[in-house]
Amino acid sequence: MKFITRFAPSPTGPLHLGHAYSALLAYDMARAQNGQFLLRIEDIDSTRARPEWEDQIYDDLGWLGLTWQAPVLRQSERMPAYRAALTRLWALGLVYPCTCSRRDIAEAASAPQEGVPPAFGPDGLIYPGTCRHVPNPAAPLPNTVLRLNMARALKALADPLTFVETGAGPAGETGEIVLSHNMLRDEVGDIILARAGLGASYHLSVVLDDAVQNISLVPRGQDLFTATFIHVVLQKLMGLPTPTYHHHKLIRDAAGKRLAKRDDARAIRLYRTEGKTPADIRAMVGL
Ligand code: GLU
Ligand code: ZN
Repeated sequence: MKFITRFAPSPTGPLHLGHAYSALLAYDMARAQNGQFLLRIEDIDSTRARPEWEDQIYDDLGWLGLTWQAPVLRQSERMPAYRAALTRLWALGLVYPCTCSRRDIAEAASAPQEGVPPAFGPDGLIYPGTCRHVPNPAAPLPNTVLRLNMARALKALADPLTFVETGAGPAGETGEIVLSHNMLRDEVGDIILARAGLGASYHLSVVLDDAVQNISLVPRGQDLFTATFIHVVLQKLMGLPTPTYHHHKLIRDAAGKRLAKRDDARAIRLYRTEGKTPADIRAMVGL
């Protein structure tokens, strides 16, 4: 089987040093194994994705010296596959519609212990389960939030839930990572599989896309380590292989703050206009 890595940016802002690190790492790892590096454009959120940012991604990555296979997979073209997967999970009784607002969730999540702040999981506030007990309509309505019934999903899974980490999580987690049912139920919970108006959530699309692209190794930032717990559950539910993961350090600014897309100051294109070279960028991220 061919060794394949990927870089999967969202075209919602400029690529910064952190993205350059992820992309270069994925590229170098593929080269070192005589494998393949793929680029995927994660543009399911049409309210935030912009063609200009997509063009800038191609331009910056080309400048960095990366090459990839065309055509590039774009998530906006994969909606039918995402819907088909949702329909299958719905038919298994593992999905339910949720009509809660953010505020409803915050209130219900903090209700049991007055004064205790609600807990956050990899998908935001851990969902308190309000809509889980409402009988499902005959079919999922388009344009509603759909959640995974985690407790039921776990009952359907016999395999031990594990993945192999070749980098490290935020607390240094590495090697074989074992996910307990209790942790998944209590600290991850009923995550969102489809967002109103978007058709699919990041978690569903990324899992289906990594599978369809036969990705062997996923290098990405440590901030996504706990999202991997969700991805492993979805892979097992849908009978998809689990790639190896390599979560890497986050590139921080001089003040130690994590770089975000809006930090234009660290945009690759600005370094380019300042006359920096691709070798300078590699040195800055420690590659
Ligand atoms: N599209 C995501 C981002 O730009 C990355 C997803 C992933 O690597 O799994 O943050
Ligand atoms: Zn709800």
